[in-house]
Amino acid sequence: MSNEAKAVKDQVNRCSKCGSCREVCPVFIEMNSEPWVARARVQLASAALEHQVDFSHRYKEIMESCLLCKACVAHCPNGVRVDKLVLWARQEAVKRQGLAFIKKVLLHNILRYNYRLDLMAKILAAYQATGIRLTPKDNLLPHFRTVPFRRLWHPKKLKKPSLVVAYFTGCMTQYVYHQTGRAVLHVLEENNVQVVLPEQWCCGMPALAAGDLQTARALAERNVESLTKAGVDYIITDCASCGEMLKGYGQLLGNDMARKFSGIVQDVSFFLVHTIGFRHPDKKVPLVVTYHDPCHLKRGQGTWAEPRKILAGIPGLTLVEMAESDRCCGSAGSFGFTHYDLSMKILQRKVENIRATGAQAVATGCPSCRLQIECGLKKADISMPVVHTVELLSRAYGLGMEGEAAC
Ligand code: SF4
Ligand code: SF4
Repeated sequence: MSNEAKAVKDQVNRCSKCGSCREVCPVFIEMNSEPWVARARVQLASAALEHQVDFSHRYKEIMESCLLCKACVAHCPNGVRVDKLVLWARQEAVKRQGLAFIKKVLLHNILRYNYRLDLMAKILAAYQATGIRLTPKDNLLPHFRTVPFRRLWHPKKLKKPSLVVAYFTGCMTQYVYHQTGRAVLHVLEENNVQVVLPEQWCCGMPALAAGDLQTARALAERNVESLTKAGVDYIITDCASCGEMLKGYGQLLGNDMARKFSGIVQDVSFFLVHTIGFRHPDKKVPLVVTYHDPCHLKRGQGTWAEPRKILAGIPGLTLVEMAESDRCCGSAGSFGFTHYDLSMKILQRKVENIRATGAQAVATGCPSCRLQIECGLKKADISMPVVHTVELLSRAYGLGMEGEAAC
């Protein structure tokens, strides 16, 4: 038995079938049917390991309906890594049957090439400018920028910086939320941190989540090589999903260079609080704000106190906690497109929890969550900006806040 198979078997054997995961799995709570809970996915992974399944449509449907939110992992008395089992099961399906045609085109022919992503963003921006909406799912599309962030905005050259960091912008800041990128540059410069923007590619999370290990590894190798060459103290990101993925490169590639790379990756909020101890701003931001914990930041990286410390350090800002702040918003990358109705149902609960706070704005640390919550608020006719935490800090340092709903 290979090491990988042994690791899968070990996780499967840990499951006592207690069913505690039923209390927290957002998918199960909406579907209320056993195949949609973590416990069933563990058993299905076990059957796949024993070659007792034929990777049918039903098998893939159940595995693909997992948000990888890790709520079950955090709640499981035996610490079963359901997320890892689901990823392994998806990879096995791809190994046996290959990728579906559309996924193959997106992952192999577009995601791996920056110039093709640039072109796609341009085409989508042009489509959006027409005002035509072909399907309701188009409302989930963010407002694409015609020029990518890294081509438009450049870090200032500081005289005597305390640290040098490479900013991994992620695709969402690159093509959609330029305001987050500007805030990150501004906040780091205000704290005397030199930012560099080396050549970089998608972190590979969409490929890994789709079971396409080959693309995930190819992108990881390129990022490790390019950002290592930059010779920086830290690698910073504003995206919870990118951060978790970059921190996992060491394990994904299994070499010293990748492990070293992963060791210096930090979420921007963690960096501001622990690594540099950010300068407390003096401008008031008179807002009542609630905070949504992205799954990939809280459970993926253990970062949840840091964004709150930043918000607490902003004069005039009041933080009101929403109920279930760390419950998944239902975004999970492409999940919102592939499981639109289910994703909207999960989102509804998040929107109700936000509404109940009476806050004036929502802060979060993941652009995918931001996009999803913006859509949910708009659907519910709630006029409330959703921003990245650093945008509020940047505003308290004096930069204006640019907010716009995505749909
Ligand atoms: S995954 Fe954990 S919580 Fe769920 S049934 Fe197994 S042991 Fe219980
Ligand atoms: S990761 Fe989230 S969606 Fe997937 S089984 Fe666990 S709780 Fe359910």
